[in-house]
Amino acid sequence: MIIGLNEALEYAEKNQCGLAAVNTPFFAAVLGTIEVGEATGVPIILQFAQVHDPIVGIENMGPAMVALAERSEAPFVLHVDHGEDIDYIRKGLDMGFNSCMFDGSHHSFDDNVRLTREVVEMAHDRGIGVEGEIGMMTGNENGDPSQGEADETLYTDADEAAAFVEATGIDCLAASFGTVHGMYHKEPHLNLDLITRLRERTGVPIVMHGGSGLSDDDYRNATQRGVRKINYYTYAAKAALDAARPLAEDPEVLLWPTLAMAARDAVREDVMRFVKVLANKN
Ligand SMILES: [Zn+2]
Repeated sequence: MIIGLNEALEYAEKNQCGLAAVNTPFFAAVLGTIEVGEATGVPIILQFAQVHDPIVGIENMGPAMVALAERSEAPFVLHVDHGEDIDYIRKGLDMGFNSCMFDGSHHSFDDNVRLTREVVEMAHDRGIGVEGEIGMMTGNENGDPSQGEADETLYTDADEAAAFVEATGIDCLAASFGTVHGMYHKEPHLNLDLITRLRERTGVPIVMHGGSGLSDDDYRNATQRGVRKINYYTYAAKAALDAARPLAEDPEVLLWPTLAMAARDAVREDVMRFVKVLANKN
């Protein structure tokens, strides 16, 4: 079943936990992640990021994600992740996504407010929640190996964040407090006090991007401070590759589906572990 972003965030608030928001730009990831929702009953946010369009277009993967979530008995939110323009977000909402993020973090504050507000007006008209972003999580979602260290000068300013939320009417806020997209090359250090300040000053749930590869304690500390949605992709995609690689080199394996099945199982195991940590079920 499909539930709204705000309904899912309320669940997280009530249970003082974080929600896994998993990017699924390959079919094994969709199947593996849906299986986790069904096994745990915990709401999962299934996401498709605009930057993943070259892997598979949202017009191809989106309808499959929507259909699989709809027919499942477990609760899912369908979220357009890192929408860079309003037309792309509208395309996702038209095909059944019911939640979206507009990423205007690379714009000036004023332009970010103006563009985010346009998305909020369009989405709220449809009863759909919006995530906005202020502060940069350097790099992009492709896992560029040159990234891997958070730049403190790009951390989100709590006063600016409060003004941004007030001016845009967003439902949750992606902010920069020590995580980056892609693989970490140095152990990340979260600025937990900043998370507390962001939550208090903005009054909305905080979203963590670059949620792969943190310690269980990092996740628990962040959710205790008010992080309610944690974006996750890189390590699940890596788990799929790690499972498939030895099979690709095995001369007894003759056909691709053997690798696809191993990838699905690996994503399921990896996301299962993540969801259980966030839900305090370990
Ligand atoms: Zn992100």
